[in-house]
Amino acid sequence: MNPATPTDLDFSFLEEGFSARDIVDQKINESSLTDDRDAFYVCDLGDVLKKHLRWVRALPRVTPFYAVKCNDSQAVVMTLASLGTGFDCASKMEIQLVQSLGVDPSRIIYANPCKQVSQIKYASSHGVQMMTFDSEVELMKVARCHDNAKLVLRIATDDSKAVCRLSVKFGATLKACRGLLERAKELGLDVIGVSFHVGSGCTDAETYTKAIADARCVFDMGEELGFEMDLLDIGGGFPGSDDTELKFEEIAAVINPALDKYFPADAGVRIIAEPGRFYVASAYTLVVNIIAKKVIMDDESASDEEDEGTSDRTLMYYVNDGVYGSFNCIFYDHAHCLPTLHKKPKPDEALYPCSIWGPTCDGLDRIVEQCSLPDLQVGDWLVFDNMGAYTVAASSTFNGFQRPDIHYVMSRPAWLHVQQICSQGLPAPAEDSSPRSVLIRLHESTQHVRSRNTACLQKVLKINI
Ligand SMILES: *Cc1c(COP(=O)(O)O)cnc(C)c1O
Repeated sequence: MNPATPTDLDFSFLEEGFSARDIVDQKINESSLTDDRDAFYVCDLGDVLKKHLRWVRALPRVTPFYAVKCNDSQAVVMTLASLGTGFDCASKMEIQLVQSLGVDPSRIIYANPCKQVSQIKYASSHGVQMMTFDSEVELMKVARCHDNAKLVLRIATDDSKAVCRLSVKFGATLKACRGLLERAKELGLDVIGVSFHVGSGCTDAETYTKAIADARCVFDMGEELGFEMDLLDIGGGFPGSDDTELKFEEIAAVINPALDKYFPADAGVRIIAEPGRFYVASAYTLVVNIIAKKVIMDDESASDEEDEGTSDRTLMYYVNDGVYGSFNCIFYDHAHCLPTLHKKPKPDEALYPCSIWGPTCDGLDRIVEQCSLPDLQVGDWLVFDNMGAYTVAASSTFNGFQRPDIHYVMSRPAWLHVQQICSQGLPAPAEDSSPRSVLIRLHESTQHVRSRNTACLQKVLKINI
């Protein structure tokens, strides 16, 4: 099998007492000294760890298989690999990425019910066995191309209340399941379980209960037909920040009793999930710079009635990342992004109705239709929190605008914690009795840290897992 490949995980340590937000300030101060005010991200890998600890606490029976499509940054995938999660891959490239970091194929589920034949063959030749299906044609392809597939039947859910619906495209109806299972039997295939996805950005926790109950029905059908059904995959849909109405722990509090009812712990069913957004959304902060501005004066008649000075104008701000870049989430993920100001406004500072636009020449490239902001200047910065999910993963360089740089940071205690989980959580390879080690070399950064404590940044160069 592939030996684990040493890989660069390049991040800076947060010195004690410093947060990712301090790094945002520091980067802003550094680049404000120059004309180079490109948009950038700060990603706190410690936040990914925090999410993992929250997951383990809230859903102790459920092993997370991170959905790589949500954010395929190597640093994130590697952090999660160290934490021992599995991975939901939907394509050859995602499988390649995860395997290049030394992840065992048993920790991968190929969770795309409609796969290209050549990619099924790729999975087969790379030891990836678990894969989802929801149609007869897919079964026939798998029967032809994969000798050891462990198939997971994806069922449709009622995702009408989710922000992004998925069951319009994927998932077999309960009615269709028996026929599919019979067909799998005829083809000599191995079906091991059931998966579903309640839709991304789930707003109704009961959807999970209903889907878990449906999965139970399909388990029973499968067992009747002689399959050894031992995998339940409850998909994704979990919120990525605490800004949402429905909190992660509230969903967990609904899922756990449903699991205990339909799949009690002693029944020997392994339960996994495919969280994407949950792990990455809040780790990323995007910082953009105002590159242009327009002041639109209102009609004189309108301004007569208003208080002078405040609402006689509308401001248009143009910033250096937009919907063809990170803010593709506005279209693809139905996101509503609102900035916070880098410079604290004065208490009595006037606010104006504003719109915020991306840098491309397309009129569609609008980030915020309406919000209230002070009178800002070209060169000022806007900060967008919770920008890790479905942002960088689908951004383009349309019109020649480059993707923002991403600065990865992690606190020392967080890093030690990841290391600890890594060394205790990953089993040693069978033929090698020495424990897997995490090698880490620290180098004092030669970089100038002008604005803050000079000891703030250190570079981690090479880490082998
Ligand atoms: C997109 C996707 C996920 C991740 O969904 P989140 O809502 O981001 O958790 C999980 N599983 C499958 C099959 C997906 O397509």
